[in-house]
Amino acid sequence: MSVLPRRFQRIKHVLNSRMGDLTVLIEGVNKPHNLSAIIRTCDGAGVFQANFICDHNEVKTFNSTAQGSQKWVNLRNHESYLKATKTLKKEGFKLYGTSLNENSIDYRDFDFTESTCFVLGAEKWGLSNELNAQVDESIYIPMNGMVQSLNVSVAGAILLFEAVRQRKSKGLIPSKGEGLNQDEYEKTLFEWTYPELINYYKKSNKDYPCLNENGEIYK
Ligand code: SAM
Repeated sequence: MSVLPRRFQRIKHVLNSRMGDLTVLIEGVNKPHNLSAIIRTCDGAGVFQANFICDHNEVKTFNSTAQGSQKWVNLRNHESYLKATKTLKKEGFKLYGTSLNENSIDYRDFDFTESTCFVLGAEKWGLSNELNAQVDESIYIPMNGMVQSLNVSVAGAILLFEAVRQRKSKGLIPSKGEGLNQDEYEKTLFEWTYPELINYYKKSNKDYPCLNENGEIYK
């Protein structure tokens, strides 16, 4: 089993610039096209992992809007909003809740170059009060129209790409895999290169093998 060298170089190039310290936490967004659009944006922005709040390990449905991007962004489920916020805070993320309430602050007033998690809410209701109470800051994107809010995936894109813009201007976008820890990097490199072998290694409880510079498996 092998991989084309060009494909392996492309996989490495993308993985090398993934950021483990930029993410989203998604609460109650259920429409497949919105979820798909958010994940596609995460992929395009260089987000390594996106977080969801789903009880019972519900499987999220993605449609063609995702263009397969769900394969390239790690999807992490949390059973409850409390578990999600506790985990993310422990990992050092600052939680930016998005809401249009009067206590929210214009997103352009913030620095998103440190560990940042944008918390996005449901299409109809927005973020729950419970989750809102857990965030570190409430931010909003100023609106000038008759309609009060943006589509959730559009709001997510504006915020993520603002974080990318700020990081780029400070030379903080990784280029050699430094945005991830070594184990995470090696594991993901194998899984992206040989997705068809993941189950085999998991079932047989074996460690993933090493890859050489051309992406070939060596024993
Ligand atoms: N009525 C809901 C509310 O008051 O929050 C509107 C929900 S909006 C359609 C869905 C999600 O998109 C929100 O929870 C938020 O995450 C995001 N969003 C939409 N417009 C936004 C804006 N102008 N600023 C920040 N987030 C926004």
